[in-house]
Amino acid sequence: MLIVQKYGGTSVGTIERIGAVAKRVKRAADQGHRLVIVVSAMSGETNKLVEMAHSFSKTPATREMDMLLSSGERVTCALLAIALNELGCSAIAMTGRQAGIVTDSVHTKARIREIPCEPVLSKVGDGKIVVIAGFQGVTPEGDVTTLGRGGSDLTAVAIAGAIKADLCEIYTDVDGVYTTDPRIEEKAKKLNLICYDEMLEFASLGAKVLQNRSVELAKKLSVKVITRNSFNENEGTTIMDEEEFMEKPVVSGIALDKNQARVSLIGVADRPGIAAEIFGVLANASINVDMIVQTVGQDEKTNIDFTIPLAELEQTKSALAGFGAALGRQEFDDTVAKVSIIGVGMKSHSGVAARMFSALAKENINILMISTSEIKISVVIANKYGELAVRTLHAAYELDK
Ligand code: ADP
Ligand code: ASP
Ligand code: MG
Repeated sequence: MLIVQKYGGTSVGTIERIGAVAKRVKRAADQGHRLVIVVSAMSGETNKLVEMAHSFSKTPATREMDMLLSSGERVTCALLAIALNELGCSAIAMTGRQAGIVTDSVHTKARIREIPCEPVLSKVGDGKIVVIAGFQGVTPEGDVTTLGRGGSDLTAVAIAGAIKADLCEIYTDVDGVYTTDPRIEEKAKKLNLICYDEMLEFASLGAKVLQNRSVELAKKLSVKVITRNSFNENEGTTIMDEEEFMEKPVVSGIALDKNQARVSLIGVADRPGIAAEIFGVLANASINVDMIVQTVGQDEKTNIDFTIPLAELEQTKSALAGFGAALGRQEFDDTVAKVSIIGVGMKSHSGVAARMFSALAKENINILMISTSEIKISVVIANKYGELAVRTLHAAYELDK
């Protein structure tokens, strides 16, 4: 088989771990598989680099951030290739650019435009194990870009799609996808199967076990993805099409996102076009706006609340500064979290939301915002209640059973 294996930060977190990964890769090679390996930076490394940049600037130039952040993955891919060669496996390390990953120029969250299969496949054809630095690409002009936090997952899926791999294995530090983060609720159960759409909601709503854009792409390109634990031989979670599901649970799991901020615009001029202007400016600044709530206007004024990723708070403040008095009073709250319940079976069941709200009420957790789609319900609450809310909802939907 032609297999793409991706090893995350913890899996390559120390020299010993990189050595263990090399042995694992060698075992797969000895079984006759052709292999392309994608690696993350050693755990904590990317955060360390971000902190270093922040010691000079709150809003460092994103192009320079990409120069900085892409270095972490470069270290691990070279080290793993060296370790593999030492084990007698012929391996070659490649940066994103060398692997042919071309992106747009939205630095720090670039989108992949194209990946020709030739650079990687020609090396595989020469009998080499190709080890690619995850999380990075290059613009047509030759500037290094990164693909958003957790972006090595996206590299793995994109490469798997480009070279038409039989399988994309995402190795991490837990056994697969659980009903909720096993670090928050120890009664969380590992799922053997999950469909693309549910996985996409999980990932978009804070379960960082897979990066959301990687799931989107896996669905689009029909890449078969399995998440597994690099520390053991357990079976993992397979991500597949919903049609192949026999039973559709009403609620499959709970996700928590603590990296959220809420923006409140109080007393916005209530006239046609104002929302288009506000969200147009934010879109131009590449800010990912999520939940939006507008209250009923009064005296030609209205209130608009929305959520954004916490990391984009400073950019949001600068983007909105240009509006002046037209937006009324601006408030920014960085002490919120988003908790969500996810399940494809919700489409055909009633009373799911009511159970969620009453479970939270019993714990005295106040709901600040609500948003729903066919297969998820999200609420914004105070950050400090995030974990409690997850455990409460996990029990309320009997996910530990
Ligand atoms: P890697 O460095 O391998 O990419 P990440 O830290 O990005 O790993 O993602 C794995 C982590 O995701 C786990 O350690 C776990 O704490 C967290 N996680 C959150 N939600 C879930 C979930 N529903 N199932 C499994 N893991 C989850
Ligand atoms: N090292 C990058 C990050 O921490 C990418 C990744 O690990 O997937 O976001
Ligand atoms: Mg990750």
